[in-house]
Amino acid sequence: MNGICACCDTPGRIIAHGWRWACYSRWTRAGRPADGPPPARLTKAERLAEYAWIRAAGVEPIEAGRRVGLQHERTIRHYETLRKAGSKT
Ligand SMILES: [Zn+2]
Repeated sequence: MNGICACCDTPGRIIAHGWRWACYSRWTRAGRPADGPPPARLTKAERLAEYAWIRAAGVEPIEAGRRVGLQHERTIRHYETLRKAGSKT
């Protein structure tokens, strides 16, 4: 069924929860967070900034990584390293 995605207002074929496939699959890959699909189309810099912001709020690395759409612990550790390096400057 075609419609407007409930999470990003993008027209497309809606498959579940009022979301498009891209958003639905992003949501399942993120571990089905309660607040819906993580944001799409972030650049790495934007994602890292978002990750750092969430971490600064006291959220643990794994959870913070999931919230910005990181799937693998290895990637999350990489972001954590970048975050620490960035906070020194
Ligand atoms: Zn969407």
